[in-house]
Amino acid sequence: MTERDPCERCEEMLQPYLDRDLEPAEVAEAERHLDGCAYCRRRYRFELSLRRYIRISATEGLKAKLAELRGLAGG
Ligand SMILES: [Zn+2]
Repeated sequence: MTERDPCERCEEMLQPYLDRDLEPAEVAEAERHLDGCAYCRRRYRFELSLRRYIRISATEGLKAKLAELRGLAGG
């Protein structure tokens, strides 16, 4: 077998996938794999929530979030 482990390939594509940095064909490949692989899907969701958390934690994001919350509270 010269075929590479598809999960290993998926892992390589995960970061550029999240960065929207892949070719359309690679996006399709990654999504096809994520669709059928619970292991990679979990890892994808984890990365996604991690990125969301980091983004919100970043100073700029925090400011924006606070402004948004103040806007909601103050009207
Ligand atoms: Zn996989």
